[in-house]
Amino acid sequence: MTLDSLHFDNAWLRLPEAFYSRVEPTAWRNTRVLDVSPLGAAQLDLDPEAIEPGRLAALMAGAELLPGMTPIAQKYTGHQFGSYNPALGDGRGLLLGEAMTSRGPMDLHLKGAGQTPYSRFGDGRAVLRSSIREYLAGEALAGLGIPTTTALAVAVNDERVMRERVEPGATLLRLAPSHARFGHVEWLYQRRKVDDMQTLLWHLIHRHRPELADAEAPFEAFFADVVERTASLVAAWQAYGFVHAVMNTDNMSLLGLTLDYGPYAFMERYKPDWTPNHTDAGGRYAFDQQPGVGLWNLTVLAQSLTPVIDVERLRGMLDEYEPALQHSYAQLMRARLGLTLPVESDDTSRGDGALIAGWLKLLEQHDVDFHSAFRELGAYRGGDESRRFLAHALEIAPDNESLVAWLADYDRRLEQESRSGEARELAMNAVNPCYVLRTHLAQWVIDAAEAGDSGPLRQCRERLAAPFTRRRDDDRQWFTPPGVDAPPVCLSCSS
Ligand code: AMP
Ligand code: MG
Ligand code: MG
Repeated sequence: MTLDSLHFDNAWLRLPEAFYSRVEPTAWRNTRVLDVSPLGAAQLDLDPEAIEPGRLAALMAGAELLPGMTPIAQKYTGHQFGSYNPALGDGRGLLLGEAMTSRGPMDLHLKGAGQTPYSRFGDGRAVLRSSIREYLAGEALAGLGIPTTTALAVAVNDERVMRERVEPGATLLRLAPSHARFGHVEWLYQRRKVDDMQTLLWHLIHRHRPELADAEAPFEAFFADVVERTASLVAAWQAYGFVHAVMNTDNMSLLGLTLDYGPYAFMERYKPDWTPNHTDAGGRYAFDQQPGVGLWNLTVLAQSLTPVIDVERLRGMLDEYEPALQHSYAQLMRARLGLTLPVESDDTSRGDGALIAGWLKLLEQHDVDFHSAFRELGAYRGGDESRRFLAHALEIAPDNESLVAWLADYDRRLEQESRSGEARELAMNAVNPCYVLRTHLAQWVIDAAEAGDSGPLRQCRERLAAPFTRRRDDDRQWFTPPGVDAPPVCLSCSS
């Protein structure tokens, strides 16, 4: 299939007019597509080779549309760093159209498409740095099996955009089954638009969760679904060391996707109270705050749904969040540690919960790289020699007391499993990535792209899309965390 054969059914246009504004994209000069994602293409049933480069470039320049597209800016509001902001909406992105694919509807959203009625003081543009970061993040999370928006392609243009410095302009063609956000519901609640809220919920159910339409209480079933998906999403972030860093309610997806990548980062040396966002001085969205913020955000959503769902029912469903998150997290962490059978214990000093906590404590105490640690542990076979080998890889002294103690617990726990060491290692390698979107790798890709070389972008995207398969002869730079003396990761919201 070619781009022009995509079929669009723009359902958001059938919602009340206040839900959006019709806006044409601004056309940018000399737009060049830097990379096309096979993953994004597959989500649209397109063969990446069959995508006509000139057509895609014109689309991403905002200069041409595909037949059936009707661009709009969506209106929403949200809580940013705890305060309600009524003035939000798509300020620099447009929903160009909703493609109907073999897997269901797929929004084509052009980020960096120019100003809209919701731009406030913003220029409506995106820069290459943040567009590449968002592009790679979608590939990385999808590669890890974490629900996320993705992108068909990233393009650079000849516009100069002022941020902390003058930067090349860019656009990202973002994909998601829907860009519906918690903030869409908040906006209707704040405006007391109960009928419109029902219209929105029915739209989301019919189009995205049809299996809930026949539930006894479909709106309740929908909220329960959002709670469950948010819990398992945040659990996956925690299990893989991902820090979103701007978990405002306008950046929370009603479909449970990771949405709106800004100053995010994968944590490297394990430090639970860390955030890469230097404008978040209080650490509101630090790594270890994410589970609690997920609940805070769901509570805001619940409050907004009080006109259509009974308060006690909402409270009951919110209570499901914490156990759902713990359950998903334990499952993921067990797999990452190579364990198959759950071993639970009421005694918090025993059972898998304690084993997981002990492992994390060990990584924290010794400043160990979170990602390589799991991969190295896969090769561990018990015994002194294997312990020394692991200790060396983790940069811990081989006779370190906490390492020896934790490995003794791990040895005992492995005795309860029936797999061979080799089978465990294989299984662990299938869930513990060797390729991780490290911030310095992303920066290396960005520097090359800004200098006109998009080779690293493609190489990085290819590795992140298949993060568990180590490529033979790959340079060590792909795996190695930055040294302890490397400058700290310091990102800002300005993108
Ligand atoms: P974000 O922090 O990226 O989630 O953005 C928060 C709000 O600011 C959203 O309504 C965005 O559309 C808007 N926004 C962010 N950057 C710009 C920009 N450069 N121009 C216009 N609006 C923007
Ligand atoms: Mg939609
Ligand atoms: Mg946002």
